[in-house]
Amino acid sequence: MSKAYLTIDDSSTIITPRIIDFLSEKGITPILFAVGQQIEAHWDQALYALKKGAILANHSYSHPHFSELTLSECLSEIEKQEDILTRLYQAAGIERRYKLIRFPYGDKGGDNKEEIQRYLKKHQFDRIDDSVIRFDWYKENGLDKDIDVYWTFDFTEYMIRENSGYTYEDVIQRIHDKNPSTGGVLLEEGAHHIVLIHDHMETEKIVPNYFEKLISYVMASGVEFIEPRFITPTRDSI
Ligand SMILES: [Zn+2]
Repeated sequence: MSKAYLTIDDSSTIITPRIIDFLSEKGITPILFAVGQQIEAHWDQALYALKKGAILANHSYSHPHFSELTLSECLSEIEKQEDILTRLYQAAGIERRYKLIRFPYGDKGGDNKEEIQRYLKKHQFDRIDDSVIRFDWYKENGLDKDIDVYWTFDFTEYMIRENSGYTYEDVIQRIHDKNPSTGGVLLEEGAHHIVLIHDHMETEKIVPNYFEKLISYVMASGVEFIEPRFITPTRDSI
């Protein structure tokens, strides 16, 4: 049995409400790292997720590679999405208790990384409580220090594409991989994870109900999804 926080990237889409209904039936609170342009295109679906108890978080406005942007472009990507999230929470009549961010592609900004981290601290972004994560590589890469939320297991289901040669079976194999090239072993007894899966129509078209299938599969294999917990770094540590 392992434990995991569930994080979903790239929301919102037309399947978001279905995903959310499925998760609330299972009693799972997900963190949705949402893209501004996606929320603009699927506002009602994002609102639905929020009202059903999901935590909506920042995944930039237009999903760029941050290391290819100037510092001010990076900050504007973050701020534009913060504005949208603020409006969304207001529209839902829900208090926004946590400010979380995950960079698209996990790209922390290259040369601007430190500046961006300082910005996140100054603007009081919250950290996911990763004190329970024990993987050596997680600490070796300094992920336990950064403000943004990284992950310890990526389903890689987004790689299932027309002509990619990557299949649903490959994803299932990855779930059982005892020596993964990146991330931690999902089913390691006693492990704690930050699991990453995507909210993608492209995947849905090739594998209908991929989301429900994969989440049910890992739960049946011994993964327990737990309530997300957070840490707010104090202003003193800036
Ligand atoms: Zn993404």
